[in-house]
Amino acid sequence: MRVVLFDIDGTLLRSGVGKRAMERAMLATAGTVGEPGHRYDGKTDRQIVREALTWGGLDDAAIDAHLPLIEARYVEALHDELGKAHGMRLLPGVEALLDAVEARADMMMGLLTGNIAAGARAKLAAVGIDAGRFRVGAFGSDHELRHELPAIAQARAREMLAREVRGEAMVIVGDTPSDISCGRGVGARAVAVATGHFSVGELAAHGPAAVFADFTDTAAVVTALATV
Ligand SMILES: [Mg+2]
Repeated sequence: MRVVLFDIDGTLLRSGVGKRAMERAMLATAGTVGEPGHRYDGKTDRQIVREALTWGGLDDAAIDAHLPLIEARYVEALHDELGKAHGMRLLPGVEALLDAVEARADMMMGLLTGNIAAGARAKLAAVGIDAGRFRVGAFGSDHELRHELPAIAQARAREMLAREVRGEAMVIVGDTPSDISCGRGVGARAVAVATGHFSVGELAAHGPAAVFADFTDTAAVVTALATV
C-alpha cells in the first residue's frame, strides 16, 4: 500500500485569494501583514503568521495570543474571497490524477498541507473537490512546521489501515523544496511538480524521486507514484 499525500496550493490548485484572506485576518487582528513580498509557498499557515508578525515587531507570546483569532478571521475572509470567485482554479491534469489515484486499490489518497484544515476544505470545495475523498491528512493546524507533518500523516494512516505503514511507502507530492525535504525524516519519497513558483530545474536540485512540469500525463505520474 502506498500512501500518496498531496500538497494543495501550487500542486492541486492555484489561489491568489488565500494570501489576500490571510492578509485581511492579520491586518484586522495584529495591524500588520508583514514584509512586502512575503512568500507563503511551502510554509504552514501558522508559520506564515509568525513570520509576518515577527517582522511587524511582535514577540512569540503576543503572536501565540493572536493566532486563534487570526485563524478564525482567515477562514471567514477565505470564504468571503472564494465567494467572489476570482482566480481559484484547478491545475492541469489534477482532476484525472486524483481520479486515478483514488481508483488504485494499492494507494491511499491523502493530503499533506500547510493549510489549516478548515482552509484546506474551503479551497478544495471552491474548485469542486470534496475533501472527504482524501482518506488521511496532516494540516498546518496539526503542527507549525511542515517537516513534522509526515509523521502525523503516517500515524493516522496506520490507524486508518490498522497496519504498519513504512515511511518508504509514503509519497509526498508538492510544488516547493519544503515539500521535497519534509518527509526525509521518516524516509518518505517526494514527487515534485512545477506548477507553483519553482521550475523543474529548481525542484530537481532538491533531489525529489521524480519531478513533472505539470500533471497532464496521468499515466506517467501514477507510475512514478507507484514506483519511486
Ligand atoms: Mg504548495
